[in-house]
Amino acid sequence: MSKHILLVEPDYYSQYPPIGLLKLSTYFKNKGYTTELIKGCKFPGKKPDSIFITSLFTWTWKPVWKAVKYYKMWYPQAETWLGGIYASVLPEHAKLSGVDHICQGVFADAEEVVPDYSLKPDWDGSIIFSSRGCNRKCGFCAVPMIEGKFNSARSSIKKYVWPSHSRIIFFDNNFLWNPHKDEIFEELREIGKRVDFNQGLDARLITDETARNLGEIPLDDKAGIRIAYDTNEQKKAVENAIQRLSENNISKRKVFVYTLFNYNDTPESFLERVLDILHWGAVCYPMRYEPLVTLEKNQYISPNWTKQQLEAVQKARRVIGFNGIFPPYKALINKFERAGNFDEAFELREPKGAE
Ligand code: SF4
Repeated sequence: MSKHILLVEPDYYSQYPPIGLLKLSTYFKNKGYTTELIKGCKFPGKKPDSIFITSLFTWTWKPVWKAVKYYKMWYPQAETWLGGIYASVLPEHAKLSGVDHICQGVFADAEEVVPDYSLKPDWDGSIIFSSRGCNRKCGFCAVPMIEGKFNSARSSIKKYVWPSHSRIIFFDNNFLWNPHKDEIFEELREIGKRVDFNQGLDARLITDETARNLGEIPLDDKAGIRIAYDTNEQKKAVENAIQRLSENNISKRKVFVYTLFNYNDTPESFLERVLDILHWGAVCYPMRYEPLVTLEKNQYISPNWTKQQLEAVQKARRVIGFNGIFPPYKALINKFERAGNFDEAFELREPKGAE
């Protein structure tokens, strides 16, 4: 007998559609079931037999609990499942929501299917995982916990590109680790749609050949290329990556460098990295560290930082930055260079002669 499956994205902000739920939709439709996607807590068109709820970052747990309680109250006969990042990282906490089952990690049975974009007709981007996992062990990252070591590398992504979409958005956590990346670059050249490596590229793996490949595909202009400069030890690798990309027609201004702070770094080492990035002509995107299991955002303060210093960075992003980033403006560089230390640099005096 055909079943009706309700797919629920809790009421938190997300720029992207709930890709895991769209995959589940295809998976269940292939079994002959009907599916329905709902944002937040609303009555579905049809009484569900099973309910799958997704989750995002751990600090967005409250709307997740609200969704679980709402649907359990109205449909007590339906089995409820909770998956996604929060459920994977904090399964014990997630279970307290009252949900029947927790799905940790990736739902392997739905990995091969094409997401059901018919549930999101206005969305214009094919979200693709060409691989899962990552072999690095950055202590601030949840990927090794959720997806494990690098695994399931695809050599072709064609079938996952939705015909009417104008963009391809990779959600790989370490795309450049894929041994088939050259075949995928070849496909991307053929397909010709704009490409966004959404989770960033590993600067240490941007060789001359990779930079050439990246320079030959149509990149999503708004997204640019994102890399990370998490520790000062990565200095040479990041500098080389930016240089190689710029030698292959990727403007340094289109390279966004995530700059982790509030982790094991100090304000001074953060300032050093910010200045490096601006000197190299790329764009600095400060990224405040949050513990993997945090239930409330912006509460954690590393022993090397103070609350005032963290607030100063956030304020500087708004006041002297542009949309939260530090572009390589001359005046900004001068201001940071003139300062004797972090506290002076982030004093937030009006920079003179900003571009
Ligand atoms: S390289 Fe990236 S994906 Fe891999 S563990 Fe480090 S931060 Fe996470």
